[in-house]
Formats: sequence, structure tokens, C-alpha cells
Amino acid sequence: MFVDSHCHLSFPELKANLPQIRADMAQAGVGAALCISTRKDEIAEVVALAETEAAWWASAGVHPDTEDEPEISEAELLQWAAHPKVVAIGETGLDYYRLNGRTVADMAWQRERFRVHIRASQASGLPLIIHTRSASEDTLALLHEAAATGPAPRGVFHCFTETREVARAALDLGFLISFSGIVTFRNAEELREVARMVPLDRCLIETDSPYLAPVPFRGKTNTPALVPHVAAELAKQKGLSVEAIAEATSHNFEQLFGVQLPIGGAAA
Ligand SMILES: [Zn+2]
Ligand SMILES: [Zn+2]
Repeated sequence: MFVDSHCHLSFPELKANLPQIRADMAQAGVGAALCISTRKDEIAEVVALAETEAAWWASAGVHPDTEDEPEISEAELLQWAAHPKVVAIGETGLDYYRLNGRTVADMAWQRERFRVHIRASQASGLPLIIHTRSASEDTLALLHEAAATGPAPRGVFHCFTETREVARAALDLGFLISFSGIVTFRNAEELREVARMVPLDRCLIETDSPYLAPVPFRGKTNTPALVPHVAAELAKQKGLSVEAIAEATSHNFEQLFGVQLPIGGAAA
């Protein structure tokens, strides 16, 4: 069985098509999914979606990309964290890719938002879903800063696109690395090098759907049913069977998020 550790089923492209997506997931052996929140006013909907399937879960958080989104407080995150279907805080982190004329110094609001999420993760014990783009140095620095004053932050660097060095630093912090369809893209040789390097017991797979459909579906709408293509690329890079990747990443998912996958669910 495959697990999609990061998808956006509440986004319009997917929400409009859920019956087909469920059928495609069953057909592809994708038996579980983590539905990710990106806005404060989206969390209730993501949690409601997770409630429709035994092996769908939800995260609670506000994405770093949008300055004009309402902020979420640590208390509000902790309230969501108490919900039985909420198993992670995020997605959160830092994104300096689209500065749009702003400087890194101008992004203090983003660092503050990230700190709120880290504190909620430390207080609740739920792992962080980390989004980092063009900001790995500060992302790692804030995690180290938190580790110095509280319980070691834990979680996953999702949709990993950074260097070997950043992967090593994330692993040293105890984090997992999640690979998306990007690992199948022709120009992603450096990322495939990272895929070969990250120990199997620290790997997750994801789609980040509706975006980033893996080859040979690149440019199309992505869905959780395509996560086996990510597993297949990981298998190729590591010289393992797809079954071994499916089993390890499913086990890692259970361990990180403290959930139990259905036994005898859709078999890979
Ligand atoms: Zn992301
Ligand atoms: Zn995402």
C-alpha cells in the first residue's frame, strides 16, 4: 500500500472530483493520505475531508507564502491539534522565492509565523510539515533556535528540492525528507542524488497534488493516485523494489504521525 503524505484535496481542482479521485486511489493501491492545510479558513474543511475516510488525516497550519492571510495563534493551533484527525502542524516554514521586491529583512512576519507553528508543534508533540524554498539557512536556524529552548522539533521537510547539504542538516536535526514528483523530472539530477543518499527509514513520498504531477503526467492535474510514480523513481534510485519503498514509506508515515494504517487495505 502507498501513502500520499502531502496533498491538497481541498483545492478546487481536486475537490470538484473527489469520487473519481477515491476510485483512482483504490485502483492504484494508494490507501492513505495526509490532507494539508494552507490557510486558517481552510482548516475546518480539510479536517472535515479527513473525517470522510478512515485512512485520511489532516494538518493544521498557515502556509508561509501569503502575507495577507489571517495569522493563526499558538492557542488556535493547539485547539486543532487536539482533534483526533489532526496529526501534524503545517504546512509551515519559510519561502523567500517570491520576494516581489521585498528583502529578506522584510520577511520577519514569515519567520514569526513559522515560530508560532514550531511552538505549537513542541507543545502538542505533533510533527511539523516544513515548506522551505530559497530559505533553507533561516529555516534550519529557526529549528535550531527552537531546539535550544524546548523539546527538539520534529517532522518532515516536504517536497524536498534543496541540496545534499540541506538534506544532511535536516537529517541531523532528526527530520524526515519527503520526495514529490519533482524527483522524476528530467532536470532533477541533484535531487535524485539526494534520494540515493537519504536513508530509507527517513524517506516519505508525496504528490503535493494538484501540483507537480510526476513524469509521464507532467503538466497535468496531479492527484494522490499518482504517488506510486514517485515511489517507483525512489526505488530506481535506491536499487530497491517498489514494494520495499511502499512498505518503508508507509511504516515511516505511521511512526512520524502516530497513526495506524489499515491492515489488508488496498494492496500494492
Ligand atoms: Zn509546500
Ligand atoms: Zn503543499
